[in-house]
Amino acid sequence: MSINSLTLNKFRNFDKETLSFESRYVFFLGQNAQGKTNLLEAIYYLTCAKSFRTSRISNLVNFNSDYFYLKGISLKNNLADVLEVSFKNGEGRKHKYNGVLLKKGEYPWGIIPTISYSRKDLKLSEEEASLRRKFIDQELSFLSKTYFYHLKRYNRALKQRNAALKNKHSGESEVRLWDEELVVHGLYIIKKRREFIDTLNILSRLAYRRLTGSSEELKIGFRCQLNDLKEKDPESAYRARLTSVYQRERKLGYTLFGPHKDDLEIVINDNDIRQFGSSGQHKSVVLSIKLALIEIVKKESGVYPLLLLDEVFSELDEKRIVSLVQIIKRKKIQVFFSGDHLPACLSKFFTDNTTFFLVSDNQVKLQERPLAVRPDLAS
Ligand code: ATP
Ligand code: MG
Repeated sequence: MSINSLTLNKFRNFDKETLSFESRYVFFLGQNAQGKTNLLEAIYYLTCAKSFRTSRISNLVNFNSDYFYLKGISLKNNLADVLEVSFKNGEGRKHKYNGVLLKKGEYPWGIIPTISYSRKDLKLSEEEASLRRKFIDQELSFLSKTYFYHLKRYNRALKQRNAALKNKHSGESEVRLWDEELVVHGLYIIKKRREFIDTLNILSRLAYRRLTGSSEELKIGFRCQLNDLKEKDPESAYRARLTSVYQRERKLGYTLFGPHKDDLEIVINDNDIRQFGSSGQHKSVVLSIKLALIEIVKKESGVYPLLLLDEVFSELDEKRIVSLVQIIKRKKIQVFFSGDHLPACLSKFFTDNTTFFLVSDNQVKLQERPLAVRPDLAS
């Protein structure tokens, strides 16, 4: 997929901008705090109905406004797919696909699939399990409405069950009432996560090898308390597990078993990256996961996603920068980059099919030629 035009109205630091992207590679270059990441965020919000850096939609509204509006057009064989999103304080948000308002609870996922990389993603390999679960759930939900449905049902049942466990006045039956929901939706979630992680493991290992040019072996495993439930009757085994811990759960006030405890294990040459990873290794691992995702999205949805890379070249050595660009160029996908300059080692890779925008003073201007040096150092 590609996005051929983007309109922003009162989004973040922009007043009104309409940008055309006729090329496959688009660079937003400029100094700090000019709005480069905001432009990538606009594309992500439009296509994924989420920001990759805030969960508060009101943060996206320009300080001098009470609404924002985004529109993106994707052209294919002379047919246009049009996505729009608007938000007004006090009124909420509205998504439209080809002029038709999406119902409440519906999202434009999958129409123009998008994968983003930003600094925040480094937390994936660094911090707590909940972030990795969120990442898996988000990507699987973008790919499958059924997964999203089961996830919502599971989370609702878990919340109710935990509330009953905490409530001294509720009896065992009020807690156990929710077990069936946990089992049905929980097993579906685990199955899909396992399939996803198995593929992610294979593809990201390959991507890591290509990206780093090293013999280091990346392994991504699925840590699941219920991993041993592969037997004939996983439902009964799950139920029995819940029964066996009931008294402990009652004391603690929360549910001890289930996919809400799952995690990803990320290992390089048998060493857990959280304990032993260098910053270059963390970045390479996360990028390899994102590169693997591109192929997963293509396999599942039939189309290649857009790729948004925020400040991707910082902290990577020249060899890895060049490898990354070579991998990306082989994939024939549309890529949006942001950064303060185009690294000199890349100028020969972006001589055609590339558009450069200079982002400055809350405006975006088309550039005739790339800034191969830092814009603040250019004479
Ligand atoms: P860097 O190179 O430091 O990453 P950047 O060009 O990516 O910078 P962004 O994060 O895209 O910068 O934009 C930051 C700018 O946007 C800041 O000046 C910030 O004050 C402004 N900004 C953020 N949100 C809003 C908003 N809701 N309304 C107006 N301006 C905003
Ligand atoms: Mg930025």
